Amino acid sequence: MTPKTLGHSRRFTPARTQIKQCGVCGKSTREGKPYCPDDIEYHPYVQGILRTIEKREKEIKNVEKEGQREVDINGSVAQEILSLVNVNGGRTIARLARDLNRAIDVMTHYAKALSYAGFFVITENARGYLIVTIKGN
Ligand SMILES: [Zn+2]
Repeated sequence: MTPKTLGHSRRFTPARTQIKQCGVCGKSTREGKPYCPDDIEYHPYVQGILRTIEKREKEIKNVEKEGQREVDINGSVAQEILSLVNVNGGRTIARLARDLNRAIDVMTHYAKALSYAGFFVITENARGYLIVTIKGN
């Protein structure tokens, strides 16, 4: 083997493309990744995201059925609503529902829970729509 050939072959096995096997199916993975693209949902980081989404959807379903007492004021849904109104200003609950792609009934429960907890003030405009604003603004 000439030194030139050795240099060439070395270029095809750099450390960062070390081969590992998927922890689920055993297929080879690139760059030492613990899972192949088909099994990426087993990655702890992805698992964490999936758990968060699942928790959010479960809470929203409960709020839909049982009303505002099911709202988790410290949960990510309430915080998302609070943050949106804080950054972008007061708006009708209907608009809030559109902004977050949620049902108006569900958003009304969240708005009332956030109002009860002292974060929001809910008023009614001349056309009878409920408007949420951050308390103190
Ligand atoms: Zn796999």
